[in-house]
Amino acid sequence: MTAGGSTRADVGVQDGRIAAIGDVARASRELDAVGMLVLPGCVDLHTHLASTPTFTPLDDFEHGTRAAIAGGVTTVCSMVYQEGTLRAGIERGLRDAERSLADFAFHVVVTDPTDAAAGELPSLARDGHTGLKVFMVTPRFADRITDYVRLLRAAAEAGMLTAVHAEDHEIVARATTLLHAAGHDAVRYFPESRPAAAEEVAIRAAAQLAAKTGAALYFVHLSSRVALAALAEAKARGLHVYGETRPLYLHLTRERFERPDAALWVGQPPLREREDVDAIWDALRVGLLDTVGTDHYPHRRAAKLAPDLAFDRVPPGVANLETLLPMLYSEGVRRGRLSVERMVDVLATSPARIAGLRGKGEIALGGDADIVIFDPERKRTIRASEMHSACDYDPFDGWEVTGWPAVTLLRGEVAYAKGEIHARPGQGRRVARTSSHGTSS
Ligand SMILES: [Zn+2]
Repeated sequence: MTAGGSTRADVGVQDGRIAAIGDVARASRELDAVGMLVLPGCVDLHTHLASTPTFTPLDDFEHGTRAAIAGGVTTVCSMVYQEGTLRAGIERGLRDAERSLADFAFHVVVTDPTDAAAGELPSLARDGHTGLKVFMVTPRFADRITDYVRLLRAAAEAGMLTAVHAEDHEIVARATTLLHAAGHDAVRYFPESRPAAAEEVAIRAAAQLAAKTGAALYFVHLSSRVALAALAEAKARGLHVYGETRPLYLHLTRERFERPDAALWVGQPPLREREDVDAIWDALRVGLLDTVGTDHYPHRRAAKLAPDLAFDRVPPGVANLETLLPMLYSEGVRRGRLSVERMVDVLATSPARIAGLRGKGEIALGGDADIVIFDPERKRTIRASEMHSACDYDPFDGWEVTGWPAVTLLRGEVAYAKGEIHARPGQGRRVARTSSHGTSS
């Protein structure tokens, strides 16, 4: 199964790479995949598995990539944060990732866009670190716009991809202040504090920056119909922009925020309306959206539901790595909202191409033998207790899913099979990212 189509064939693997497709000689070890789908390992461009000087995530590289491997995700990109230099943030990520079970790469979040930071980009790119991230939702972005413009120019020159958290700070800050002033602190007001207009305005502004600097931008976690319209305009202008959405926005609506345990689903941006959910499925189907990334960043139930937490104090993020593929298959492919080829494209082929992860994201001769043997008939009810994340709840707890990974191969080795993790901490390798991230579709 590839993004381009599907055939019935044997796949031969040698030394971790795909050595044959079609007629394959007898091998020392054979895996029977009759009745199964053979998919490329998924590539998730949006996770938070690395530590910072003051914080270690609940799912660190070891726990997070256990969930990844069990869910058919064989390559993860994690955010790391600038620590003085960008390089220091990456070095911390590299140390953390020594426990990774999956292959990995990074985006480095630029919090202090100095001349020196911009000056680091050519050497980072040479070393295969071609990903940056910026947050438009912080006041810093507007305050230091001149510095960020220079950074984006340097990123364009170095052939780097910049991930963008596109929510407008002014709009979010104003809405938040008004809600607090009115005594509306409960989590049910969270969606009102981050209206879709904040996304729309930020994407339009970022598109202007892309036009001005030539930078390639990757818009993370798009959640709304108006955000998609802004993305479509930017693509129509021929700008080098890509769009990602996230499972929460495909499977859930704002109604969750009416529940007493609403905080369990808090992520940024918030859950939206049914019409937004429908628009996101459409955008995935037609190729306006390029990828689905998890934004995997779980927090324990007690941390999410701590008493009297105002809507803007709930730690944002949920677990998603293990359910990304089965949920998209069950809700998308089985329900006729997405072809299986498109699913492979948005989960594997496009993210690998956009991030310059050569050898990943497809089943092709010479590529890494990252393969998921997927049982399309396996029925399963999602239960946090059976998931591999360290988190004690799952945003999709109780959801009935049809289709689940049976076996995951990482570079030809069985990393997961029938409920058991076989990969060892440290088995994951860093993937050096190239600077050619293909062309926008
Ligand atoms: Zn994120």
